Amino acid sequence: MQDFIVVEDVWKTYKTGKVSYDALRGVSITIEKGSLVAIVGPSGSGKSTLIHLLAGIDVPTRGRVVVDGVEISSLSEGRRLKWRRRNIGIVFQFLHLVPVLTALENVMLPMELAGVFRGERKRRAMELLDFVGMADKAGKLPGELSGGEQQRVAIARALAADPPIILADEPTANLDVGNKKRIIELLARAKERGKTVVYTTHDRELAEIAEVRIVLRDGRVEGVER
Ligand code: ADP
Repeated sequence: MQDFIVVEDVWKTYKTGKVSYDALRGVSITIEKGSLVAIVGPSGSGKSTLIHLLAGIDVPTRGRVVVDGVEISSLSEGRRLKWRRRNIGIVFQFLHLVPVLTALENVMLPMELAGVFRGERKRRAMELLDFVGMADKAGKLPGELSGGEQQRVAIARALAADPPIILADEPTANLDVGNKKRIIELLARAKERGKTVVYTTHDRELAEIAEVRIVLRDGRVEGVER
């Protein structure tokens, strides 16, 4: 197995006014292609920060993030955005579905950005909504859906442009048991479809399905469990 994602001595310092805080303090990890990886650790340990760096949403203060041979931490913002649209599907804890677009339109959006043809967009979006068990609610706005349903739409949207990497930040937070199980199953199935799946979680069950657990504490890797 090749090292697909390489994080090399990464530091992330946030500055608020005169105060600076090292959220990540020399993190080095490698992630294999096609693996299912959980990032765990107490609140404030740097999990979300790390996911944002893997997504290319943000860049490290020091160190490198290399994905499939591309050093994303040194790309310009424009190039990083383009890279992200092709390579990353992301599910956030606070959904980020577009409230004025229907479930179907939300799933079609990343395909539009990725340049998929119009007819194909709708067909694939319906297929994905079916995959997450939401086909019958394709015409609903996010506000008309429950939290669990919205999270399923968010997963369909993350898969929409068929990116090789799926990232998720606390994807089962605030969900009831039924919806939680469903999300766990969807992430496992994304891996079965060949995706590299990396997520942060506080949930034991979700952490346990991962092949690798990266344990963060105070911005450092405390351990890697396989
Ligand atoms: P986790 O996801 O493990 O809860 P985070 O990565 O969200 O941890 O945060 C790590 C630390 O960095 C926390 O102490 C948090 O307050 C701080 N932090 C996160 N984002 C910012 C930001 N944009 N500005 C300042 N501090 C931040």
